[in-house]
Amino acid sequence: MRRKLTALAAAIALPAAAAAPGTPNPEIAAIVADISPARIEATIRQLVAFGTRNSLSSVDDEKRGIGAARRWIKSRLEQCSREGGGRMQVAFDEHLVQGGSRVPRPTNFVNVVATLPGTQPESAQRHYVVSGHYDSMPSSPIDGEKDAPGANDDASGTAVSIEVACAMAKHKLDATLVFMTVAGEEQGLYGSTGFAKAAKERGLEIAGMFTNDIVGNTRSADGAVDRSRLRLFAQGVPATATLSDDVVSALRTSGENDLPTRQLARFVQEQGERYVRDFKVDVIWRRDRYLRGGDHFPFLEAGYPALRFTEPVEDWRHQHQDVRVENGVQFGDLPEFVDFAYVANVARVNAAALAALALGPAVPKDVEMEAFKLENDTTLRWKPNGEPDIAGYRIVWRATTAPTWQFSRDVGNVTRYTLEHISKDDFMFGVQAYDRDGNVSVAAYPRPARR
Ligand SMILES: [Zn+2]
Repeated sequence: MRRKLTALAAAIALPAAAAAPGTPNPEIAAIVADISPARIEATIRQLVAFGTRNSLSSVDDEKRGIGAARRWIKSRLEQCSREGGGRMQVAFDEHLVQGGSRVPRPTNFVNVVATLPGTQPESAQRHYVVSGHYDSMPSSPIDGEKDAPGANDDASGTAVSIEVACAMAKHKLDATLVFMTVAGEEQGLYGSTGFAKAAKERGLEIAGMFTNDIVGNTRSADGAVDRSRLRLFAQGVPATATLSDDVVSALRTSGENDLPTRQLARFVQEQGERYVRDFKVDVIWRRDRYLRGGDHFPFLEAGYPALRFTEPVEDWRHQHQDVRVENGVQFGDLPEFVDFAYVANVARVNAAALAALALGPAVPKDVEMEAFKLENDTTLRWKPNGEPDIAGYRIVWRATTAPTWQFSRDVGNVTRYTLEHISKDDFMFGVQAYDRDGNVSVAAYPRPARR
């Protein structure tokens, strides 16, 4: 605590002084402190009040159906933009789909997208996307008439996206943030697929994406309660018949756990646990739960690092169920089964991670491990980052069987460094960049360089 206060005082007294890499950032703490459980509850109850948000429900009705829901989401985000100085841009993002197994007639899937442009020109092209799906379903995914409150699946994730957007709208961050709520998840991930494909086609740089889907229930059907942690699903090697050159190159030195998606997960876990007290982010090295999928899939397929947040204990009586009572048991995705204080912690983890990503430098590029001769030392080299506020680089390493970084060394503003008497054969290594405010980037895995 003393170190933190001293660093803070130094930053106030001498704005030019650099903060030590990894120092807690007061701006991130302020964003996290702005997250409100009461506002999250109000958002979830408002979304439930539209009766159904099924993608096949009414688009014209003023009060009921998906059209009314998305107009409300847009106006809420616009209000937050105005309150934050008007820099956040809010728009509908439409994708017409002619048909499909869960699309019985041509349907326009409409995402609501709020973009907060980065303020550092060298970083503004770098985007981070956070998403929740605002569509819902009763027992049948193609029933647009029946009540489908979708309080947990996924008004909870929608509320996270909106709440984080509102907490961040007034802040100036280096990179660009995209706060999204998508439609058509229950129909087959149509909203997120439309966005991810269009982003890839126009070469949008998305350095990280996370979806929040089913993030509000803390009590399982057998009564077990877990409010202390959040699951974060992170894919490893993609299950595709052919792999990109980058992936194959990493696999040659057993970098299967050091591809960009798992590097991002390590970073999100670290930031979440740093800024949100008594709340654990459980990284799970798996694409998603068995039998389930989510809006991170199309981003992964487009080659972007993408993750999924989900509560630790699920209760399937309150997912994808008609609202009804059977043998004295209430079925249906109703707000009384959502733990709003828990959803607020999920939003805090998202906010901390997004702020740290967008305030921090990009992942260092062209990171290489010199493999010129047999030796017991480790020499890494990399390209200098392009941001004007770069203060240096950090080398991190861990045992090959360890999930998270165990050791680190700040090596200053150099582009090559030798760790003496530490063998590259025995550890996994990464290189991070840090800036003058102490913000540290996600790590990059080195590819072997031969002379
Ligand atoms: Zn869902």
